[in-house]
Amino acid sequence: MDDASPPPVSGRLLDGKALAARIREELQERVRRGLEAGRSRPGLATVLVGDDPASAVYVRNKRRACEQVGLANLHRQLPASTSSEALLDEIAALNADPAVHGILVQLPLPAGLDEAAILEAVDPAKDVDGFHPRNQGCLLQGRPALRPCTPRGILRLLDETGIELRGARAVVVGRSNIVGKPVALMLLERHATVVLCHSRTRDLAAEVGAADVVVAAVGVPQLIRGEWIRPGAVVVDVGINRTGDGRLTGDVDFEAARERASWITPVPGGVGPMTIAMLLQNTLEAAWGAAGEAG
Ligand code: NDP
Repeated sequence: MDDASPPPVSGRLLDGKALAARIREELQERVRRGLEAGRSRPGLATVLVGDDPASAVYVRNKRRACEQVGLANLHRQLPASTSSEALLDEIAALNADPAVHGILVQLPLPAGLDEAAILEAVDPAKDVDGFHPRNQGCLLQGRPALRPCTPRGILRLLDETGIELRGARAVVVGRSNIVGKPVALMLLERHATVVLCHSRTRDLAAEVGAADVVVAAVGVPQLIRGEWIRPGAVVVDVGINRTGDGRLTGDVDFEAARERASWITPVPGGVGPMTIAMLLQNTLEAAWGAAGEAG
């Protein structure tokens, strides 16, 4: 993509919902074949502490998707008053349970629980969220390990466009441990030239304007303006923001950005469904190995 290429009339929709549905079908087929071959059913333990309504919805969607592809869901619902010790005991029990191949502790945890200590207690081999420092360290060093779901989903979406990441300029806005930093590392691994922006970035418009690939993971509605987008760029909007009237919107001014982008993800229906699909894939891989075929 160079400056001389004509701007596309309107960006093609990078449809995460459709891609995630395809991936779920493939996973369902892999699970079916594995079970037929006598393997034990992969199990995901979702752990929800407290009654945050948004977290309850996320967990319900994950459980439903899990059952749909044939994974066992072993859900643990704990009261908001759960102590750190009790939660650590629960995690130790799940670590030791051979029927559990993946453990997902839904974040955020209620105030008073030490999130970092809880995530570190999860067996790295069962850390299907990819948040354990060991797995994040492996990612940093380019070693195989469970990778965080949202960044993994973003890379799958980018691959779907056919864009050559090698040598491309990728600008990631947001530097959280769960999205921004890992997706930057994964883009770097694919030989993109990566710029990682955040709230202290001096000229966000100029950084975004130079990008072949924009990944927005901020949590500020419409922060990324349409006119910033370089014509032909691929735009991935990770943001999930609730508007006053209850609708969901991303971090990108979608309509305006679509005028200039070659591909763009919608919100909802972009990254969100891919995150769940990658969680299922991570669980299958945690149980049966990366090819989904091993013992
Ligand atoms: P965090 O709040 O942890 O991080 C936000 C990042 O955005 C920070 O690095 C912050 O910078 C940066 N930022 C904030 N304001 C600005 C600004 N004005 N200009 C540039 N950078 C800014 O968010 P998460 O990474 O957890 O999530 C980001 C968004 O993605 C949220 O809307 C969340 O709901 C959504 N999300 C969606 C998922 C999905 O499956 N679709 C999964 C996970 C998250 P600094 O570090 O300097 O403070």
